[in-house]
Amino acid sequence: MRERYYKLIEKLPKESVRKLERVVNSSLITKYVFQPSGLSFYVVKGERGDYLVIRGKYCMCPDFTINVLLRGERAFCYHLAAVEIAEDLKKVKTKVLSDCDIESVVKKVISVHFR
Ligand SMILES: [Zn+2]
Repeated sequence: MRERYYKLIEKLPKESVRKLERVVNSSLITKYVFQPSGLSFYVVKGERGDYLVIRGKYCMCPDFTINVLLRGERAFCYHLAAVEIAEDLKKVKTKVLSDCDIESVVKKVISVHFR
């Protein structure tokens, strides 16, 4: 998994790699873990707002929607790659919350982009 991600970073645009390094090095990634289900997702603080990321699967940023899902040009955006690298480097902050908080946290993160 790790090897795969480091390899694929080469395919990201230079600007995205710079942003990836910034979010990893500045510890701008938070993992939200909900109990008792154990469900989790990440929030990456980007330059244009916070993005919700489901590890290895999904990111809510425009790059993921356009270049990954629609065009199929890449397997992931820089946020998804950043989560993998930050996990490897132990640069992820973790917040443990109750299952009943999932909806409010998701709404809070995504609402910023729909004002
Ligand atoms: Zn993204």
